[in-house]
Amino acid sequence: MIPLAAKLLTGWDAEPFVARIRGASRRDADSRELPSANVSASAVWVSLANHSGNSCREIRVPEELAYLSDGDVVCINPRRSEIWVVYRRASTSNSLLLTEQCNSYCVMCSQPPKSGPDGFLVDVALSAIPLFDRATAEIGLTGGEPTLLGDRLFEVLDCLRTNLPETAVHMLSNGRRFSDLAFTAEFSRHLPADFMAGIPLYSDLAYTHDFVVQAANAFDETIRGILNLACCQVPVEIRVVVQAANAGRLIELSEFLVRNLPFVAHVAFMGLEMMGFARPNAEAIWIDPAEYRDRLAAATRLLSDAGIPVSVYNHQLCTLDRSLWPFARKSISDWKREYLPECAECAVQQECGGFFFSSMSRRSRLVGPIGESEC
Ligand code: SF4
Repeated sequence: MIPLAAKLLTGWDAEPFVARIRGASRRDADSRELPSANVSASAVWVSLANHSGNSCREIRVPEELAYLSDGDVVCINPRRSEIWVVYRRASTSNSLLLTEQCNSYCVMCSQPPKSGPDGFLVDVALSAIPLFDRATAEIGLTGGEPTLLGDRLFEVLDCLRTNLPETAVHMLSNGRRFSDLAFTAEFSRHLPADFMAGIPLYSDLAYTHDFVVQAANAFDETIRGILNLACCQVPVEIRVVVQAANAGRLIELSEFLVRNLPFVAHVAFMGLEMMGFARPNAEAIWIDPAEYRDRLAAATRLLSDAGIPVSVYNHQLCTLDRSLWPFARKSISDWKREYLPECAECAVQQECGGFFFSSMSRRSRLVGPIGESEC
């Protein structure tokens, strides 16, 4: 687990700002011949976002963020002595949280909605994006529900399109707002060249989907939203978080997708992340992957045989049928990923995506090291 926020050792009286790290390591600091009082393992230099004149200043960050390096982007709130990491140049798991507000209330939501004002999140994104490396391969957009931002979401998309024209952008959305075709058409006019919307569909049964997202008519709105996105030529990925409520109908869900949404660009079957609402609801939602292993294999093969690209996310290789290994991805973000001590003896640890840090206490009875002879 990599920490992404910390308390600064000291604060000062200034507005929050976004900054890019410059020369951040003990070696760099030493080589710049700083006064010895300023040299420490946790001394980093930041360039202020506006790059105005002599806008460099040295700040000291706590040891837990000492991994910060050149080109990373942080947000600093001097009055509250807070620093959080917005972007790590070397990471393939960068994403921007755009809002904490949502019109669904999913039983396993890992980022529970909050209703307070959070416009500063878009302000941070708009300040940070121009500081990202133009060679960044992919950026994720998350919430909350980003489409609730309306025009402010379009500002973020325009900013990405202008500053990172080569970057793939993947946005998570519950898809419901796209049931408004006029909104979807306007949305499609702001998209970066390489864009995909990741939209959850939890079941082929409307009442199961509506139960999972805790919103009446959500299934109908999401299906209409996916169809509108297709009309506007926006690539869609279907995301299926497998849990107790839907694990029994994975094959039926695949059949539904093949029959009704064969145009989708990708389907991801995902393991639970035991964060947010998933923790208090754990007894009701968690299911051992051992219980749906065979159905998951059949559902995945059904999609693959129909020509729909499909992947399995957030499942350890030892919990999957061998036929699914080619579909398994190391999908858990590097800063959330953990392994068990016994994984060190496993022949496929390099290929295995491991565990969510938050989910270490809930693990399948199938988990255990795989020997060389079993590969
Ligand atoms: S034992 Fe650990 S490394 Fe090996 S497949 Fe299972 S979770 Fe992955």
